[in-house]
Amino acid sequence: MEQESTEQKGIEQKSIDLRSTDLKQTGSGSALPKSAQKTVRRSGKRKKTKRRKKTARRLEISVKLEPKSFLTGMAVGVLLTMLVMFLLTRCSAEEVETSGLELDASEPEISVQLLDVNDYSRPGIEVDSVSGVVIHYTANPGSTAQQNRDYFNSLQDGHGASVSSHFIVGLDGEIVQCIPTQEVAYASNERNHDTVSIECCHPDSTGKFNQETYISMVRLTAFLCAKYNLDADAVIRHYDVTEKNCPKYFVENEDAWKLFKADVDAALKNKADKGE
Ligand SMILES: [Zn+2]
Repeated sequence: MEQESTEQKGIEQKSIDLRSTDLKQTGSGSALPKSAQKTVRRSGKRKKTKRRKKTARRLEISVKLEPKSFLTGMAVGVLLTMLVMFLLTRCSAEEVETSGLELDASEPEISVQLLDVNDYSRPGIEVDSVSGVVIHYTANPGSTAQQNRDYFNSLQDGHGASVSSHFIVGLDGEIVQCIPTQEVAYASNERNHDTVSIECCHPDSTGKFNQETYISMVRLTAFLCAKYNLDADAVIRHYDVTEKNCPKYFVENEDAWKLFKADVDAALKNKADKGE
């Protein structure tokens, strides 16, 4: 029993010693004995030295790699420039793709044959202001501009239809004007009050326009755009107002419609280039 108590005392003494050591160490600001602290400092120094060496090595490597990375940077730069130039060329190529007709926006020859003022085809109402040009097709294969103009004029006798157009472009490229552009025509539904309408003749049921008609369509449209200070974006199809299949060929062939607008745009720019 005595031995045990002596051992117990010894254990207690050690724990007291340890506690006092702990207290001293806490006072010195570190939980480690001085010898251990030195080791930590030394290893810290070693680590710092290692880090410095590593940094130096990295610098060496980066210095060695610099010419290569410079060349890589140059290559990437050149490739990016080439890509941008390629894209720009493609975009501009798409923009200038036209029929190459060399037309301009000067006033084409127009046969003015105004309709009599009447409730069915020439109401004599003034337009608000012209903010667009609407393209139509006659939907009457082989009919001439004159026949269509005369039909519009005959509506005043009460045929029951209310329809007309400011202009009609014929199969030989002739242009007939039926209504002054400052007056409303019955052609484009809710856009009647702020647009100019062009009816276009076509030889067959496909609705495709022949070359003579097409050229006059581009010239007249460009002339009207220039007159009212509009660009090609203001040129629309009857379809764009009501979704009616008019003009049939330009509704069923979107590319042909885009080409027409590009040709109008080119004709407008031709005018601008000449400074007219
Ligand atoms: Zn139409």
